[in-house]
Amino acid sequence: MTRDKISVFTNGTDVSDKVFHKLKKILEDHDHHVVPHYSGDSDLIVCIGGDGAFLETMHKCDFPTCPIVGINTGHLGFFQEFLPDKLEDFIQAYEKKQYSLQQLNTVRCTVSTHAGEKFSHIGLNEIAIKGGNSFSVHLFISIDGKPIEKFSGDGILVATSAGSTAYNYSLGGSIADPRLKLLQVTPIAPMNTTAYRSFTSSILLPSDLSIGVVPEGDENEIRILNDGIETEYENVKNIQVTASDQVVNLIRFKDYDFWHKVKDKFLETN
Ligand code: NAP
Ligand code: MN
Repeated sequence: MTRDKISVFTNGTDVSDKVFHKLKKILEDHDHHVVPHYSGDSDLIVCIGGDGAFLETMHKCDFPTCPIVGINTGHLGFFQEFLPDKLEDFIQAYEKKQYSLQQLNTVRCTVSTHAGEKFSHIGLNEIAIKGGNSFSVHLFISIDGKPIEKFSGDGILVATSAGSTAYNYSLGGSIADPRLKLLQVTPIAPMNTTAYRSFTSSILLPSDLSIGVVPEGDENEIRILNDGIETEYENVKNIQVTASDQVVNLIRFKDYDFWHKVKDKFLETN
């Protein structure tokens, strides 16, 4: 039997660490090699925690190409696939390759400054663009190079389908089935005046269009949040947001059903 190199991450809570030790023992009993870090030759990444832990693992591993599976020790997880009481079932199904890979698309932004520098950020959930302080920000937005709107408000968010159930949903954006390869542009507290007019709902774009954002006048202090990771820039000339060709390959077992998770998280009361 082939011995796989399996990288296991936990979010460090007591519950997750207990699951880590249990899983490590099971994997080693099955002759796999368990490491607490990622390297290019890892066959699988396991992430123990909630959705936030999953996002952190993806950023830590720089959006790896190998399959990833999440064990949920938090609230209902959209990325996380199974509960800690299913470790044995997991290893059986994994070894028999009884799973499918769900490809999740990512979103990228490139920030260009007036000094000619370029910076890039990637998000699995979203990229949010806000002002450098808590005042409203004024942004000229274009789609595919064509000017569309003059935005005034807290900022704009560009979500992937997988990220549509996170910050995007709290802002009144739509839930998008992760099989849809699209970018959802959602305004964050838009203010419509005679000078600034922008859409008040989300707009959905095919993933081959790019969104251009130019801060107005000398208002060029901008805050970028990719999956909640915040970076501040000064002197911003423009920002381009596009779908990225980096995809995340999530292991899903036969009972996986996105809409069931959505119902459980947002509609079921108990
Ligand atoms: P956090 O502020 O600790 O958590 C935000 C919440 O979002 C957590 O409950 C997290 O689940 C959940 N979440 C993350 N990705 C999700 C997804 N794809 N679908 C549904 N729920 C999701 O920050 P974090 O844990 O590091 O997560 C970063 C994400 O938080 C950002 O990407 C952004 O989408 C989201 N966020 C949301 C708001 C808001 O809704 N007002 C504000 C800021 C950021 P777990 O509890 O399982 O970790
Ligand atoms: Mn969290």
